[in-house]
Amino acid sequence: MTDRVKIFDTTLRDGEQALPASLSVKEKLQIALALERLGVDIIEAGFPVSSPGDFKSVQTIAREIKNATVCGLSRAVMKDIDACGEALKVAEQFRIHTFIATSDIHVGSKLRKSQDEVLDMAVAAIKHARRYTDDVEFSCEDAGRTNIDYLCRMVENAINAGATTVNIPDTVGYTIPSEFGAIIQTLFNRVPNIDKATISVHCHNDLGLAVANSIAAVQFGARQIECTINGIGERAGNCSLEEVAMILKTREAMLGLQTGINSQEIFRTSKLVSQMCNMPVQSNKAIVGANAFSHSSGIHQDGILKAQNTYEIMTPESVGINKNHLNLTSRSGRHVIKHRMHELGYKDEDYDLDTLYQAFLKLADKKGQVFDYDLEALVFFDQQKQQEANYELLYLHANAGKGMIPSATVKMRMGDQEGTASATGNGPVDAAFNAIIQVTGNNDIEIVDFKLDSKGEGADALAQVSVVAEYRGRRFNGIGLATDIVEAGVKALIYVLNNTCLADQIDEKKQQKIAGV
Ligand SMILES: [Zn+2]
Repeated sequence: MTDRVKIFDTTLRDGEQALPASLSVKEKLQIALALERLGVDIIEAGFPVSSPGDFKSVQTIAREIKNATVCGLSRAVMKDIDACGEALKVAEQFRIHTFIATSDIHVGSKLRKSQDEVLDMAVAAIKHARRYTDDVEFSCEDAGRTNIDYLCRMVENAINAGATTVNIPDTVGYTIPSEFGAIIQTLFNRVPNIDKATISVHCHNDLGLAVANSIAAVQFGARQIECTINGIGERAGNCSLEEVAMILKTREAMLGLQTGINSQEIFRTSKLVSQMCNMPVQSNKAIVGANAFSHSSGIHQDGILKAQNTYEIMTPESVGINKNHLNLTSRSGRHVIKHRMHELGYKDEDYDLDTLYQAFLKLADKKGQVFDYDLEALVFFDQQKQQEANYELLYLHANAGKGMIPSATVKMRMGDQEGTASATGNGPVDAAFNAIIQVTGNNDIEIVDFKLDSKGEGADALAQVSVVAEYRGRRFNGIGLATDIVEAGVKALIYVLNNTCLADQIDEKKQQKIAGV
């Protein structure tokens, strides 16, 4: 048996489906590219049949990713599998992942079928998926609560039907490590053709055991772990990629297993996902939390200064945290920025130095010191700007104070037109939002959440506003960053408007396609 554990990342599928608002195609692609750099083996990019937007994302990711297998999810339903095959066929390497529930609770009350009927559906789905690719994964949903005899029969039949990976999910996060390990062990003891497929696990964290259960499973022969960055996912989330990767690396001598993860990319990927998904990472989170490598007790600090391994089982540098702080100010030259970006792990082709440097100078003028976070935020928001944005803010003026009615004036570019509007509101942000809605004529947008955060340190930190808006029955997420709260809010709203535009375009194309057939 091989000692290599495949890392199957489902941040963009399981993780994304749990977000309050869905990500745009561009955002998903940016995360997929980060996952490729991180060295994951398989990227589950989405659920193509679920929406035109998801189809488009999976297709775009399939086209751009070269060094990982791109995977799409499908129920054990022919049209789902066809949508997967269609979206993925442009990929260099792809996998179709199909699933059906196998526990009594699900088979009886959700599917309302007999065990034999479910088994036949699974076999038919796998065979159908094999018409598109030799790389087919089958999942027994709720395997953690499935009768073990039926589970063995299902796994054996799935492998016979052509599944090359069989996934054993603890869908509801119910099992404990010894129990889950024993399920995997039983499969290896009782399923005669088990050596013909890779056994995978997909654990949820409802009892905080997703990582522990996944590690127990690989000790009993599983060779693929399904996980997400920062452990995001349904309810309490999935098994966290960074924890599993660092357990296998730090305890390699004991476990004897390896992954293809480039651990120095972990911190950066974690920050990117947290930022894009608007899901903060708790500060005491293992591996990537802000305090994961900070030592507070005097005794510990003293020990660390004498020898790093006294209280550190791994170094912050090994997960890509670079403690070396360089103060960047408006006097810093282009080569300093370039050098810092290099230290942060960016390659020259990842960003445009001229654009970044101009944005950096503007920011440095406004806030004096620029930190690593600011620099990465500038790259991130710059890439957002580079999308063919339909809406662009050209001018903003907002007034507020005691004893006056808050008002705002905006000038916007909308496609190839420009317009100006003024409005009042219950505060300057509200006034600016009203003015934007007025000038764009976009009355279908309803703001359902508005969150303000500070990014960076001290009083001169940047304001980050995240907005969740409802538009024609769907939710969109927007983030804006600026030294000023009103400007950050306006940027977030414009981000949402641009995302709704993209979604409309995708829907329109899909409609045309259907009409054309
Ligand atoms: Zn899941």
